[in-house]
Amino acid sequence: MKYISTRGQAPELTFEEAMLTGLARDGGLYVPESWPTLSEDQIAGFAGKSYEDVAFEVMKPFVGDTFGDAEFREIIAKAYSSFGHDARCPLVQLDSNHYLLELFHGPTLAFKDVAMQLIGQMFEAALKRSGNRVTIVGATSGDTGSAAIEAFRGLDAVDVFIMYPHGRVSEVQRRQMTTPVEDNVHALAVDGDFDTCQALLKDMFNDFDFRDSVQLAGVNSINWARVLAQVVYYFTSAVSLGAPHRKVSFTVPTGNFGDIFAGYVAKRMGLPIDRLVIATNQNDILHRTLQSGDHSKTGVVPSISPSMDIQVSSNYERLVFDLYDREGEAVAQLFEALKDVGSFKLSQGALGRMADEFDSGRVSEDETSAAIKDYYERTGEVLCPHSAIGAKIGDEMQGDVPMITLATAHPAKFPAAVEAACGEHPALPPRMADLFERDERVTRVAGDLAAVEAVIRERIAG
Ligand SMILES: *Cc1c(COP(=O)(O)O)cnc(C)c1O
Repeated sequence: MKYISTRGQAPELTFEEAMLTGLARDGGLYVPESWPTLSEDQIAGFAGKSYEDVAFEVMKPFVGDTFGDAEFREIIAKAYSSFGHDARCPLVQLDSNHYLLELFHGPTLAFKDVAMQLIGQMFEAALKRSGNRVTIVGATSGDTGSAAIEAFRGLDAVDVFIMYPHGRVSEVQRRQMTTPVEDNVHALAVDGDFDTCQALLKDMFNDFDFRDSVQLAGVNSINWARVLAQVVYYFTSAVSLGAPHRKVSFTVPTGNFGDIFAGYVAKRMGLPIDRLVIATNQNDILHRTLQSGDHSKTGVVPSISPSMDIQVSSNYERLVFDLYDREGEAVAQLFEALKDVGSFKLSQGALGRMADEFDSGRVSEDETSAAIKDYYERTGEVLCPHSAIGAKIGDEMQGDVPMITLATAHPAKFPAAVEAACGEHPALPPRMADLFERDERVTRVAGDLAAVEAVIRERIAG
């Protein structure tokens, strides 16, 4: 399988190259040159299989011969051995036809672990073979950074540096980044906000001297390998409810559009998905886009579901590529307009194609808290704010087929909002109960490119 850029100007890459590169040099995102399909029999055969076995079969056509079969199975096994649930991504029933897919049993209690744990093992295997070493640098507002640290801690061929805005992440999130003891893990508390961190990361990738001298690599949510890892749980959950003989729908709490795009990929591969429902908080650019075709940025308004506080949904470009019949030039024009004037408008045809597959809904802050309370009272389930947004919209969008709402984080990651909403203080799982007693290790650094680069150079030299 070859990978092509959504803007049509960057060279074709192999899976391994696309994984190690991330962003294409023409500013686009890598996508497979075509969507592989699985037969109905193949999908039916997933029934009763382990998460790991299904993961192998779903991802194999995309990975090609990057890894041998036995090697790839071993990578998958290692990745998910860190999960605190034997089913890896279990389904819980909410009412007669509405289910919750729990994606938060990984080491940092959010769904980002599903992809990041796998990417860590894939990087290690690919780098060991080539003898290369890379420096992974990431910017985080909370969940992605801790997931990256957990995925790469202790690996031989990788140093991982995570920049987070000093004083602006929750205590659980900070401690997840500052308490790992391995030498290859470096938490950087940057003076500034999340945008400062993101701008520093971008500048670092554009500083080619630095980029080459430290072998800079990125694992942010536009990395194709991350999207791929998320396709798997659409198959496992749908099959456990009767697919491919029965259709299912999904509702997905959405920020960067990575998770729900993985659902779209599953559908392209032949999984009979009826509706894909985009759930947003008050930062509702995707909901507005589906209503009118108008994709225009407004300022981000902070919410109690911070992982969805996003106005630039990077992975949406991958969908737009398909909506425009994979014409890179059209995609480049739209996304350059988004960068220059803050908006673009979908053509009627493209909007129609999007509406054929997707629905959407938006939930306010008050409605989010009310939904947490409502589900607690009706089912005893304590939902994190992101999952509660999904569940509320999933309820509203229910039709004849089973609705599966993705639960993207454990409630204990957002204890204040959850307790304020339903009166229940969500406890950390036992394997993490001592998080607040562990020693922290962090480097405070100015929000300045030279300062951050100096810290990184010094650490990898030492
Ligand atoms: C990252 C994240 C999301 C949004 O997922 P996208 O793939 O960016 O759409 C939703 N909920 C939680 C808890 C997250 O960490």
